[in-house]
Amino acid sequence: MAHLVHVVVATPAHSTVGGPLSYWSEASLPAGALVRVPLGRREVCGVVWDPPEGEAAQPDPAQLRPVGAVLDGLPPLSATWRQLVTFAAGYYQRSLGEVALAALPPQLRELDAAQLARRLQRTPVAPEVATVAAAPELTDDQSRALAAIAAEPGPFLLFGATGSGKTEVYQRAVQALLERDPQAQALVLVPEINLTPQLQARFEDRFGTSAVVALHSGMTNPQRLKSWIAAHLGRARIVLGTRMAVFASLPRLGLIVVDEEHDPSYKQHEGARYSARDLAVYRARTEGAKVVLGSATPSLESWQACERGRYRCLEMPKRIGAGELPRVRLVNMNNQPRGTVFSAPLLAALSERVARGEQALVFLNRRGYAPVLACNACDWKSECSHCSAYRVFHKVDRTLRCHHCGFTERVPRACPHCGNVDIAPLGRGTERLEEQLGELLAEVRRPDGEPVRIARMDADSTRLKGALEHQLAQVHAGEVDVLVGTQMVTKGHDFRRITLVAAVNPDGALYSSDFRAPERLFGLLMQAAGRGGRDAARAAASEMWVQTFSPEHPLFAALKKHDYAAFAGQQLNERRQAAMPPFAYQALLRADARTQEIAQAFLQAAAEAAPGLDGSGHVVLYAPVPLTVQRVANVERAQLLLESGSRPALQAFLAAWQPVLQGLRVRGLIRWAIDVDPLLI
Ligand code: ADP
Ligand code: ZN
Ligand code: ZN
Repeated sequence: MAHLVHVVVATPAHSTVGGPLSYWSEASLPAGALVRVPLGRREVCGVVWDPPEGEAAQPDPAQLRPVGAVLDGLPPLSATWRQLVTFAAGYYQRSLGEVALAALPPQLRELDAAQLARRLQRTPVAPEVATVAAAPELTDDQSRALAAIAAEPGPFLLFGATGSGKTEVYQRAVQALLERDPQAQALVLVPEINLTPQLQARFEDRFGTSAVVALHSGMTNPQRLKSWIAAHLGRARIVLGTRMAVFASLPRLGLIVVDEEHDPSYKQHEGARYSARDLAVYRARTEGAKVVLGSATPSLESWQACERGRYRCLEMPKRIGAGELPRVRLVNMNNQPRGTVFSAPLLAALSERVARGEQALVFLNRRGYAPVLACNACDWKSECSHCSAYRVFHKVDRTLRCHHCGFTERVPRACPHCGNVDIAPLGRGTERLEEQLGELLAEVRRPDGEPVRIARMDADSTRLKGALEHQLAQVHAGEVDVLVGTQMVTKGHDFRRITLVAAVNPDGALYSSDFRAPERLFGLLMQAAGRGGRDAARAAASEMWVQTFSPEHPLFAALKKHDYAAFAGQQLNERRQAAMPPFAYQALLRADARTQEIAQAFLQAAAEAAPGLDGSGHVVLYAPVPLTVQRVANVERAQLLLESGSRPALQAFLAAWQPVLQGLRVRGLIRWAIDVDPLLI
């Protein structure tokens, strides 16, 4: 007998066939089963989906193509997993098939049943976590937090200072879960691949290597498949991963941890632009799991959710052992000679630390040697010919590189316009900072009489595989005196010897047109400060230096007191008055086209079709504008902002707008996309 089956496959983003396709099968197939089905002339991987609701017309099986192979070695994906995918597709305005298939490991989509059967035999049966390694005695704050997590439903916001022992709380929460149910599973999310190895090591030390698997895009496809299968079969107790791991199939999910929940990396920036943090909260609710969001500088969204009583805030203000957070020292750059990069007092402080054998960390959020190369005779600057941006001068390999499109050329010997040989770098990036610091500290000696050792850590210095681990090991081993880097160095790392942290030029964010810039800057500076003074013996004298032209800015007053609550209160006030998120809900319609006019014409047509659609009465549409970096790789970019005081109204509007957008035909348009709850506007 022929059975009608509904299957989702990876359809293009805005395809009108957003929902499941119909096939027939000899055997009845459960929803969630993985199958291979014909699609056009290809055969592709698909997931059997639930039948559509309501009385849809039943297609005639004779008209349908049959399902190919069934990957029946694999238990079906659960109803809650399908629910998560359905929600994400609806909320972020993408097709079901795109989200469902992107949530599976790439290799799984390629396998046939025989190959899969072989893979499943590789996967060893992990034992239950029999013993858990000894753990330190909990502080009162940690005990209180854990008691609340055990007793209350959550969601929880673990608002703990850097070094307050949040990771220990995550581990104990996992332990408590496994004591209750030895078959249970925990999902631990971290914002960046760089941070997975150290956290994985900590979880493996505690629970044993076989209990933990990692899931992130830095792994090879076979590794990812192996981890995914271990999670899907319920064999992995702890799955540790980046944002994509929020879609892992976890049949016995009992706990989700989102570490550094404020981090913008949780938001996906292409395809389905989901927030892994927000999906984690949704998923925990539908699966009856607990969710713990942790941060020293929570997102204002989560902070407000606590104020409104939707999340439960668990505070851990004190650092373990070390006591004090670093003392914050502001240098008023208005009082320094023009063009000063390192103010005299900061330089003196750095020299003193080196002479005492301590470590310092200097950060600047710009890599390369200089952001622009310019001619002193004419007005030539190192513009990218494909983008509305300057190419960055990298001195190590004497190149001009566009950080937007990647276009790279050797540095010209003379100005390409006028032939003048006097072309010079303007501004500075980490490369130049490192060089300059080397010159300024040349006379300084370490306690052993040796010269200062300076190292740099940024996306350039860590590009090669293993480079990051190597550099981190050097810092931990005390083989580096001054570490220069981008924000990469400020995140998460447990540097025990650092006693001075310096932000040399963080002002840009204060004048940014992005209303989230101060929030990000405050988080960054607090995180950076958190790198200092981690070792109790050295903590008392640790310092955070900030050079600024706006020392009166309220952000710095809050920073001086390490007072996130004051900062958040002030920011939320401003946001409330301006009716900005989290007091309003936003979405962007973005368009890429051959010319700016075409991109904007599409957005204009989209706006003109809006009145009368569901929810449109409660949604404000702003005028189309070019993006800040308007042209990238010869593509012109524009966007239209939508805002509403009501999330359901915005959602209803977007759902009604989708088919209208799909029907718009504008010549020269390359692509368009909707970004719900955008982080960068
Ligand atoms: P956070 O995640 O909040 O930055 P960590 O969990 O990394 O903090 O803790 C900072 C340091 O304190 C780590 O070295 C950790 O092993 C240690 N630690 C955590 N909890 C305790 C405790 N209860 N007793 C002693 N040391 C602890
Ligand atoms: Zn010139
Ligand atoms: Zn470019």
